[in-house]
Amino acid sequence: MARINLDHIRHAYGIRPTAPQDYALREVHHEWADGGAYALLGPSGCGKTTLLNIISGLVRPSEGHILFDGQDVTHLPTEARNIAQVFQFPVVYDTMTVYDNLAFPLRNRGVPEDLVATRVKNILEMLELSDRADKKARGLTADQKQKISLGRGLVRSDVNAILFDEPLTVIDPHLKWVLRSQLKSLHRHSRFTMVYVTHDQTEALTFADKVVVMYEGQIVQIGTPEELFEKPKHTFVGYFIGSPGMNVFPIALEGRKARLGDAAIDLGFAPKVAAGQKTELGIRPEFMEIGKKGLPVSIRKVEDIGRQKIVRGDVAGQAVSIVMKEGAEIPSEPRVSFQGKGINIYADSWRVGQEA
Ligand code: ATP
Repeated sequence: MARINLDHIRHAYGIRPTAPQDYALREVHHEWADGGAYALLGPSGCGKTTLLNIISGLVRPSEGHILFDGQDVTHLPTEARNIAQVFQFPVVYDTMTVYDNLAFPLRNRGVPEDLVATRVKNILEMLELSDRADKKARGLTADQKQKISLGRGLVRSDVNAILFDEPLTVIDPHLKWVLRSQLKSLHRHSRFTMVYVTHDQTEALTFADKVVVMYEGQIVQIGTPEELFEKPKHTFVGYFIGSPGMNVFPIALEGRKARLGDAAIDLGFAPKVAAGQKTELGIRPEFMEIGKKGLPVSIRKVEDIGRQKIVRGDVAGQAVSIVMKEGAEIPSEPRVSFQGKGINIYADSWRVGQEA
């Protein structure tokens, strides 16, 4: 297992990049803890696979260094990095049995057969494939084959890290949930350093201790699920995490007050912003209350989603979503108020904290 340092990494696929948008990865500078479970989360094209491939050695970064436990591996090929990888689609040997497929990474490194048998047995049980151990992989379904790929990634105990690139894409929804929980418990027991790429927030939030949110080639926040929910560092995180996402209003700041439409909201602190910066107030739908106080809201639609209702409407000329408890009443002239603890202030899309 290893600590991973991403030291001022930048990457461009084209030659002679100049503008920030020429880079698939703009600037990544972080340390990931030994034994951590990290999910790289973000929309298509934000650079997740590029970053994963830089860690694995499939891509050499245009700038910067990558270190495993302090050792610079930037110029080492994948084989020399001692990592296991699981890709989106199955990588299995069709003519081998399920057992031999799983044993392959161990036998390849000269692990004694009795140890191979113990490790493979554990993995077969975890993946619920014990009854198929002697079957040839050829006859298996796509999701069974993908389970073998996962198993091959998990079978070694001496790797620096295990890298997963959207590994559950071809798995059916029920099994997805089961495998995700098994991966999580395997991580708890083994303390492998794991990096898991996904664009699915549920997958990221259930698997990872730390979710790394990426947007346009940058890491915009690394945090626990709670941190991403309560204090999104960037408006994109607020919008991308949560369903519905955070509401974002343009505001004018006057000391401790945010002016929004006709209302002046007391923030309890005076955010420090530079002249000319775009200022916004972000609030999640769960922290807005419909009642007789606050700003007028015109309601367009109410969606019943079981124990809650999602109200879609407009406040100060802006589309909003508000979460209400199932039985809550909507008055005839509805207004909306904001809970102070749910308010975040942004300058040029980045959060300005009380601490700033
Ligand atoms: P997805 O979820 O769709 O896989 P991603 O977040 O993993 O997306 P990347 O695949 O890392 O994103 O791509 C980041 C950017 O780099 C995109 O603009 C993509 O088009 C570009 N890119 C990726 N691979 C290459 C390549 N081999 N050559 C040129 N451009 C590439």
